[in-house]
Amino acid sequence: MEGSTKLKAACLVGWPAGHSRSPVIHKHWLKTLGVAGDYRIEAVPPEGFAAFIGSLQARGYVGANVTIPHKERALDLAHADARARAVGAANTLWLEGGVLRATNTDVEGFMGNLDASAPGWDRACGAALVLGAGGAARAVLFGLLERGVELIYLANRTRDRADAVAAQFGARVRPVDWREIESLLPRCHLLVNTTSLGMAGEPPLRLDLKGLPDNAVVAELVYVPLQTELLRAARARELRTADGLGMLMYQAVRGFTLWFGKQPEVTAKLRAVVEADLTTS
Ligand code: NAP
Repeated sequence: MEGSTKLKAACLVGWPAGHSRSPVIHKHWLKTLGVAGDYRIEAVPPEGFAAFIGSLQARGYVGANVTIPHKERALDLAHADARARAVGAANTLWLEGGVLRATNTDVEGFMGNLDASAPGWDRACGAALVLGAGGAARAVLFGLLERGVELIYLANRTRDRADAVAAQFGARVRPVDWREIESLLPRCHLLVNTTSLGMAGEPPLRLDLKGLPDNAVVAELVYVPLQTELLRAARARELRTADGLGMLMYQAVRGFTLWFGKQPEVTAKLRAVVEADLTTS
């Protein structure tokens, strides 16, 4: 921090925590913005999480990201905002006057990336189709509803889970069967994959996208690999796309700002740095 010799530090708390790209993002911003700070990885098992979070300040941290399996538990251990409570998970914690606060930045990460990747996507968005009903899906639904999308079809492999999530978010979210996906495409201007299908080690998400309108946008949350089969199919149809790495970078902005006091930008240079890290590890 300027005018102070005290180094500010934040960390990522997870179990396991070693695979995250968050350190690459935050270290890039610390360097380019000239902030004397650090971002570390803390591997903390579930049974040690509450004690760790309770001693964040004593450990010299101004805040933290939390990841699997701690995102839900973090809600109970900090003053969570409405967004984190609606999503049912917190991923960003910060100390404010000694009080530990929590939010969920996946919402703005998804929306910020969508706005940057497909400007004006919401001008003609009659309906959206969201695939998946886990934590990431709830963040996406929260963001889309807040933006005013009138109708969101929600398809999940396990239908009961889609029903439960739709009930939580209200009548604008309509649960549908997984097998209905392709028949719904002509009505949708936005298709979002929030499932883990397409991730390295998981089966690909194979959909015939020919039914989507020509001005539809396809958003992917998976970022390992960067180019999933869904994105490849969308690009082959010359549809606009928003990828998972973009979301990851945008979701990191607020944590950095809260911890280090400077608002960083998502730039082509940052993307290149993270992409290089993804391809070398
Ligand atoms: P989660 O809560 O575990 O949910 C996983 C979802 O994937 C569930 O809807 C599950 O369906 C579905 N699924 C898993 N295997 C499937 C299969 N074989 N066929 C169909 N559906 C399947 O996980 P999450 O936290 O929501 O994360 C989901 C994805 O989003 C992950 O790939 C994660 O890396 C990514 N993500 C990316 C970002 C980013 O910044 N880019 C941020 C958050 C999450 P069931 O209910 O039927 O099991």
